[in-house]
Amino acid sequence: MIERTYTDEITSESDGIATTIAGHVHELRDIGGLIFVILRDRKGLLQVVFKEDDDPALFEQATELNYEDIVKIRGTAAATEQAHRGVELVPDKLTLLSGAHTPLPMDVAKDTDANLGTRLDKRYVDVRAPETRAVFALRSTLLTAMREWFVAKDFEEVDTPALSAAGAEGGADLFPVVYYDREAFLSQSPQLYKQMLVAAGFDRLFEVGHAFRAEDFATSRHVSEISMFDVELGYIESHHDVMDVQEESLRYTLERVVDDAASELDLLDVELIVPTDDFPRISFEEAQTILREEYDHRPDDQTDLDTRGEKLLGKYFAERGHPAIFVVGYPDEKFYYRQDVPGDAIASRKFDLLYRGQELSSGGQREHDLDRLTKTMEQQGVDPADFEFYLDAFRYGVPPHGGYGLGIDRLVQQVADLDNIKEAILFPRDPDRLTP
Ligand code: ATP
Ligand code: MG
Repeated sequence: MIERTYTDEITSESDGIATTIAGHVHELRDIGGLIFVILRDRKGLLQVVFKEDDDPALFEQATELNYEDIVKIRGTAAATEQAHRGVELVPDKLTLLSGAHTPLPMDVAKDTDANLGTRLDKRYVDVRAPETRAVFALRSTLLTAMREWFVAKDFEEVDTPALSAAGAEGGADLFPVVYYDREAFLSQSPQLYKQMLVAAGFDRLFEVGHAFRAEDFATSRHVSEISMFDVELGYIESHHDVMDVQEESLRYTLERVVDDAASELDLLDVELIVPTDDFPRISFEEAQTILREEYDHRPDDQTDLDTRGEKLLGKYFAERGHPAIFVVGYPDEKFYYRQDVPGDAIASRKFDLLYRGQELSSGGQREHDLDRLTKTMEQQGVDPADFEFYLDAFRYGVPPHGGYGLGIDRLVQQVADLDNIKEAILFPRDPDRLTP
């Protein structure tokens, strides 16, 4: 490894210490006889001052530098009021490790005015900007925290296949792929596999994986390849057990983000409010009543909340101190949800979590009875024969179970307060974008 110290380790207390730093030339100012370089590495920024009078040859070398060149600089730390961190580096050796072409496709040091398309085309330059980089440091913190909660609560992490013979979420949104001599599909959700694993005895599991949706969207909250945090648990009494898990894990995750990603939130100018209340659990009918009576909003589709409906509900509950709510009992259900069973006190066991006015996850109790499951499929026009690999697992004993799938990209978008979900993804995919 190239020997170097990260900039954040160099403070005013490092005064007089010889050290080497390496990274990008973030800023460059030549004021005649003096060149100020701000060097940027993964951890921060540090000012380096080249003085012509002190070392003419070294100064000459510095005049050749360009924005975003990668350099290694050896020198001595000097405490000074002049530098914004109270310390700078007095250089004695400069090595160019890799040069950057000029002009750059966008500004890295200043707020870029490049549009999102250009930024994504040149993502490897775009994410150098500290504000953009902060999104991904925050994302990493968030995922680590969420994983930790589940591990601490005795959940096991699993991996299910991305290639499958049938989709869990319906036909239209599947990406077909050539699989040897037949057709296969990219996974839309690990749903069926999570359930098969519950049948196999994994009764507290989670998976962090990718799901693929061939949706033709033009929204700021959809992408074609999504990161999902999926959870499934067995031996539940109802979907409320699943909501309890989601509520606790989300609260913990957000608390950890507030603590562990404080500097990133600061850079992004976000004040993250962690819901401390019990998340309200309102019925789908109550949601519709609020929309009708408070906002005169009557969506055409009576089986789902539309984008505006979600936003208005978000506003309504935010004003009452609840950034997150569950809407329970959607009439529009996929075959794997437990349907209304005669004699069953609870009609629908499906829920969505809305966080800050946007759907963040869908979940519920699943059907574990093979006959009922098959009947629901038939009613919904799904051919059970196509799902034999899944249905077979229900012949050998499956405990009552439920779970949910949470969109990680959407959560990061909400937490970092980003206009577009693509800003929360390093290399997003949409109908027009397959590179870089
Ligand atoms: P929506 O109605 O918002 O399109 P959905 O109900 O089709 O979402 P689900 O199948 O319930 O989505 O997927 C679970 C979660 O995965 C969603 O709540 C969301 O957070 C995320 N998600 C689903 N589809 C997308 C997508 N195309 N882009 C980004 N996130 C998605
Ligand atoms: Mg959903």
